[in-house]
Amino acid sequence: MLQPSHEIPLLFAARQRVLEDDCACAPATMLSVSEASGLSEQDCACPTSLGRRVSAVQADARYRQAEEVWSQNLAGDFRLVFHPRAPQGPCVLNTAAWKRWQDFQIPQPLSQPIDHQLAEQRLLLPLDRPAPSVPQPDTLMVWLHVTNQCNLRCAYCYVNKNAASMSQEIGEQAIRRVMENAVEHHFVAVKLKYAGGEPSLNFPLIRHLAIQAQREAEAHHLRLEQVVLSNGTHLRPEDAKWLHHHGVRLMISLDGIGEIHDRLRPYLGGKGSFATVSNTIEKILLPSGLIPTISITVTRYNAHGIAEAVRWALERNLPVSLNFYRQPFGAPEDLAAEEQMIIQGMLAAYRVFEEFLPTYPFLSGLLDRAQATEHQHPCAAGISYLVITHEGKLAQCQMLLDRPVSDHLQGDLILKVRNGPLRNLSVDQKEQCHTCTYRYFCAGGCPLETFRTKGKWNAPSPNCRIYQALFPEALRLEGLRLLKLHGLLN
Ligand code: SF4
Ligand code: SF4
Repeated sequence: MLQPSHEIPLLFAARQRVLEDDCACAPATMLSVSEASGLSEQDCACPTSLGRRVSAVQADARYRQAEEVWSQNLAGDFRLVFHPRAPQGPCVLNTAAWKRWQDFQIPQPLSQPIDHQLAEQRLLLPLDRPAPSVPQPDTLMVWLHVTNQCNLRCAYCYVNKNAASMSQEIGEQAIRRVMENAVEHHFVAVKLKYAGGEPSLNFPLIRHLAIQAQREAEAHHLRLEQVVLSNGTHLRPEDAKWLHHHGVRLMISLDGIGEIHDRLRPYLGGKGSFATVSNTIEKILLPSGLIPTISITVTRYNAHGIAEAVRWALERNLPVSLNFYRQPFGAPEDLAAEEQMIIQGMLAAYRVFEEFLPTYPFLSGLLDRAQATEHQHPCAAGISYLVITHEGKLAQCQMLLDRPVSDHLQGDLILKVRNGPLRNLSVDQKEQCHTCTYRYFCAGGCPLETFRTKGKWNAPSPNCRIYQALFPEALRLEGLRLLKLHGLLN
């Protein structure tokens, strides 16, 4: 049930700030996401941090209504409002705030607390002053391919597996060089993803490198995030406790319930892995206090079953990340589902999100590569992403493990990936995308998938129609979440 907004004595603003309303008239209310990208983990290379962001508000300027504002009625007195350059995603306005926004058809200075909030969301823009540029990510993303072994044979895997693993010497060299290179390029944070193959098959190396990384990040004054991307079949209780104790997060792939998961993610001998994965989550991870993010890859074999998988995850309070399948280069079979099948499967999953409506931020996990906060690039590949193979080679993306841009880890690794063949253009450089309402939320989709299907880098994603069909619904869910978070929806 929706609470009436005229009873609200406060204004809720971005970044968890709560402003007292000293105005005597009916309170104008705006709710917006304040938790940035939220809990969900992603297995690609999306920037996770949008530091270096400065307030958009210029106190001495006159402000006008922004164009390109997208709005939809949400519930009762509230509407969801979204500007493509909204730094923190969509926000919710009540009627009083919406009316106040209308006042700015006549430019004027900001004079009420709500005016500043509207300006922070770029719903109001300073007159005759250029919009600030989209902030550059301040986090260096790193994929550490700690092993090329895997005990599963997933249908869509892009790794040419064998028994080889990363040595301690290569791992140590990689961490050292990553930290130095991050400082040389003025990054303030590093995010390490321990991946493979199945990285938990080389857990002693993960432990060793994670400790080294903590030590070196501290010495270089870098913020550090670490995550293990696992298939969830080989984690022991002591591993889970260790990860939890050391603040290393975990992402587990789960592509459906029972047979659906089994078909996509069988063991080498053909037996399904669902029973083991669910047992790992329920009997090992959760009792250890470790909350994994559930990564679901949508293919034609599971599009009809992702709602069920989302329900399984949300019943256990686990964050979810929904990702589209990408066909590996040279793969014999294309597992991509047909467009309508994906849209219907995703909408069914969204209905489950609406039923549970978690109050933690989940928007960034709702749609492949989309993020709740404004960004220019769909991922960090070719910009601020280092993929380090088990042999100590350097690649631009984990899908390009077999096409390294360097055979060693010496020199400026960031420069090397920036000079590689993968071109990760900004969304403003892509045909059609640069005028799209969702452009700083979508950023044009996976560049490699675009190039594979269209033969050029500056085209919109082959999944564009899927994005366009799903964004309004994903944004609506975010609006409902904000209402619930602020006690306005029971
Ligand atoms: S891929 Fe489509 S939805 Fe995404 S920014 Fe480009 S035009 Fe918009
Ligand atoms: S290029 Fe595509 S597959 Fe590679 S990190 Fe970016 S989004 Fe992921």
